[in-house]
Amino acid sequence: MRWSGHFPFVTPTAPTARRPLGFLAILMAGALGSALPMAPVVAQQPAPLPQSLSEFVRLKEDVYAFRFQNHVSMFIPTDEGAIVVDPIGQSNRQAPSVYKEAIRSVTDRPVRWMLYSHWGADHGTGGIVFRDTATFLSHRNAAPKIAAANDPTSPVPDVTFDGGTTLEFGGKTLILQSTALSPADDYFLVWYPAQKVLMMVDQVRVKTLPFGDLQGASPERMAEHLQYVADNFDFDVLLWGHGAGPILTGTKQDLLDHRQYYLDLVDAVRAARAAGHADNSEAMVAAVRTALAPKYSSWGNFPGGLTANVAGVVRWSSDAGG
Ligand SMILES: [Zn+2]
Repeated sequence: MRWSGHFPFVTPTAPTARRPLGFLAILMAGALGSALPMAPVVAQQPAPLPQSLSEFVRLKEDVYAFRFQNHVSMFIPTDEGAIVVDPIGQSNRQAPSVYKEAIRSVTDRPVRWMLYSHWGADHGTGGIVFRDTATFLSHRNAAPKIAAANDPTSPVPDVTFDGGTTLEFGGKTLILQSTALSPADDYFLVWYPAQKVLMMVDQVRVKTLPFGDLQGASPERMAEHLQYVADNFDFDVLLWGHGAGPILTGTKQDLLDHRQYYLDLVDAVRAARAAGHADNSEAMVAAVRTALAPKYSSWGNFPGGLTANVAGVVRWSSDAGG
């Protein structure tokens, strides 16, 4: 899905009862790169002013995050040049150029690596401004999608991999691990062990409900995946490709909290069924909301995202024949 133009970034804690969920749904559908059934787009309320459109944050001595609107990139400068994850150029076509200048404000070395965390036009568009100096890398499954997108601002990767690989560059070591949630999964996570930083785009969210109706994997599979990540990667800063302000990054505990949400969601749906509520009925959603509110009512997209989350649990349990 492609769109352009300026949209307000809305933080999950924005003090408005009516958030422009249609906007968020469009963004996220782009991230998933598939034709999701879209919720009806509600009339978009202007977000309250002032808005934070962009952030440039030094997370560790040599780790930076750059946000433009609702997308977040990471870069790591080295003596031989910078490593960047995602050009995030769809929501605003000037963002990659702004980003390039932001990088220049902290290092005089050029960007040498552009890593596509996956192919989603919203995260992946606009890398062309780094093409003069950067080698582009993606998961093997992402390359044909990028080629098919045929976007002149989004270079087809020079290097692809599957499974896990190590990027050693400029005296720094990054571990790239494909997440393999499905045979078509084109995501990989980026782990910088020396600084205990993990970037895992879209497959985890910080204090925010999972997106939509859980297209990527069943809730049980996601919980398993998140436990695997928690058990095998040492990190204290988590980037998830979205978020702003206090949830621009999270911690391992946030990742574990997100895992627990999936389990609590499944339990709540089961309990609603046991209470006689029909799948996806308003009564089921209301029962799930009541069950989850004590722990999750402060999370982004609660309760707005619950109807879709419940639908995801119902669909996956049906797929499993249960
Ligand atoms: Zn995304």
